Amino acid sequence: MLNKYVIGIDVGGTHTRIGQISASGEVLKNQMLKTADYGNATTFLEHLIGVIKTMISDDTEGFLGIGMGAPSVNEQNQTITYAANLNWDGSLDIIQVLSEAFSVPVKLTNDANLLVLAHQHFDDALLSDFFVVTLGTGVGAGICCNGSLLKGKEGFAGELGHVIVKDSGRSCSCGRKGCLETYVSATGMIRTVTSLIAEFNSYKGSLLDLPMSHLNAKMITELALSGDEIAKRALILTGEILGKALANMVALFNPQHIYLAGGVTHADQLLLAPTRQSFYHHLLNVYPDQITIEKSKFDDHEGAILGASALM
Ligand SMILES: [Zn+2]
Repeated sequence: MLNKYVIGIDVGGTHTRIGQISASGEVLKNQMLKTADYGNATTFLEHLIGVIKTMISDDTEGFLGIGMGAPSVNEQNQTITYAANLNWDGSLDIIQVLSEAFSVPVKLTNDANLLVLAHQHFDDALLSDFFVVTLGTGVGAGICCNGSLLKGKEGFAGELGHVIVKDSGRSCSCGRKGCLETYVSATGMIRTVTSLIAEFNSYKGSLLDLPMSHLNAKMITELALSGDEIAKRALILTGEILGKALANMVALFNPQHIYLAGGVTHADQLLLAPTRQSFYHHLLNVYPDQITIEKSKFDDHEGAILGASALM
């Protein structure tokens, strides 16, 4: 028999990750489903239940419950509501479906909170005030304030990606213009590369041979490391805008520490150095210089299922 464990689930627009997590935060088993392969929520849930059943089959007695993170979670009524990037209509009571299937407690939170929970429960640092900013396809922030996760009335606190940073700026998927994520997400960085190519007509580098639809954040980092001027410039501009946004966030929440996570952070110092420079330049002088910005020690995938398990 295994020790007590919980199932942690991170439902994402592209992938759903499911993990069996021990009380000490060890990932005992994990598996991935391609969320978009299942046309609707019902079919997806049938497969998800099947995966969990197989995962717990060794020891159903140690199974304590399910913690889950997903986009568009209404924390007030604990449902997934009109999740645009999941293609699920209406309001889905995923808690009822899973608790009926397994007769264990099920808890749900917004996915932006998962890495905050991972840091709160599985990090030695034990900070009371910090943010985790996730830079992926979009931008999200989880905020830990006075030792508690900040949720807001409906649970949508921390929508940092949709803070408007430029008047009449780039069009955003939310229907407005100039949101932070149109600049500092992976897709934002690709838009920056495109506009830099148009701006510098003397540029002769390899980005000219690449269809922009094939470009991703990892390729921009690799090109920057190989000395490509536009890729390097795109990372610097991304860091400058991000650093200023983080300095503004500090004025609201006064954290001790800021963690960055998500695919864009694989650029490491190419992104962190300009972000820190801009952050300290824009930081209000009442805040101590000890506020630090680092890459989260939890990788997006394992960290998210660990955080989800911490809900239990
Ligand atoms: Zn927006």
